[in-house]
Amino acid sequence: MYGRIRDDLVKGLEEIRGAGLYKEERVITTHQGARIKVSTGQEVLNFCANNYLGLSSHPRLLEAAHAALDRWGYGMSSVRFICGTQEIHKTLERKVADFLGKEDCILYAACFDANGGVFEPFMDKDTAILTDALNHASVIDGIRLTKAQRHIVQHLDLADMEAKLKESQGARYRLIATDGVFSMDGDIAPLKEICDLAEKYDALVMVDDSHATGFMGRTGRGTHEYRDVMKRVDLITTTFGKALGGASGGCVAGPQEMIDWLRQKSRPYLFSNTLPPIVAAGTCAVMDLLSATTELRDKLERNQRLFRKLMTEAGFDIRPGDHPIVPIMFGKFPNDAPLAQEFARRLLAEGIYVIGFSFPVVPRGQARIRVQLSAAHEDEHIRKAVEAFTKVGKALKVIA
Ligand SMILES: *Cc1c(COP(=O)(O)O)cnc(C)c1O
Repeated sequence: MYGRIRDDLVKGLEEIRGAGLYKEERVITTHQGARIKVSTGQEVLNFCANNYLGLSSHPRLLEAAHAALDRWGYGMSSVRFICGTQEIHKTLERKVADFLGKEDCILYAACFDANGGVFEPFMDKDTAILTDALNHASVIDGIRLTKAQRHIVQHLDLADMEAKLKESQGARYRLIATDGVFSMDGDIAPLKEICDLAEKYDALVMVDDSHATGFMGRTGRGTHEYRDVMKRVDLITTTFGKALGGASGGCVAGPQEMIDWLRQKSRPYLFSNTLPPIVAAGTCAVMDLLSATTELRDKLERNQRLFRKLMTEAGFDIRPGDHPIVPIMFGKFPNDAPLAQEFARRLLAEGIYVIGFSFPVVPRGQARIRVQLSAAHEDEHIRKAVEAFTKVGKALKVIA
């Protein structure tokens, strides 16, 4: 009987709307890219995609995907271990493992599934997981699916991590789980210090590198390259849905035995359909592209640095960092949450598409606009964005 729950939902939805937190979808009528059109007909510069390398509509990927459609077909109608594995899936696993510097790799339909399937096969009630308080929702959910003792470590707090490693000495195995880059701040995990602690206390290290694979580090391998711990991180989960073409899919990369074990035990792998061949082929093309040249990640780095420099000169309070996620902070204003929303709305009118985030997505008093740079941006796009920020910033008295 659809009765009482309906009334509750109507009320709940009204509360979300009343709090100004109702999420709307903006409909895009073009390919993904630096310049997109939305359904109102307006053309805008996109500064809120995870399209870090500008590969989402890259001609090389479209070509690879078209060719794969003809060569491998549309769908496999099977999980991997029944009749859902083609050569293209094995090729992709090899390429991704090599790119990340790991022995092997196992594909999932999404990184959400990779994180949902990576913990439970290894971690029973006699084990312990240490997890950063700001880890991605899918890491949190994956850990919830285990019976392991759970220790929530304060965000990037190494002293707290060490205290919790001391507390959990009795566990048969321990695993430290962290995002490589945290999506709301662009904070980069101190993996060197984390690996030192893991070595000292005999723990495994798992990094979700969804916001880093393809561009962090000198050759774009990820946060483990950026922090110079390529061989010391045990498990990496990542997505193909951000920098690596942005379609979908994810994986776990790590030591041979752990990946073999996941192929036997990991539930999202065993009970969910295989990655579509065109996505596997597109991601293979990305791996080839990124292994051949660092051109795109170099351009992204230049773009990120240019934007940070110009915004700082314009007088904005930006969170310092070295990542294409650049949060523009409004915390020093008492009305930070509505201010960030209004700022983003006015930027859209100026043709700059960004999103304002406020509580409960980020802590109270830390409302922000999150800008994400891409290798698809040209200097003129970045300058146009800074001009728009400056114009709106003066009108709203955020800068002098
Ligand atoms: C985006 C993201 C995911 C989810 O990846 P999907 O492939 O879209 O499921 C997981 N973890 C982190 C840290 C992410 O940023």
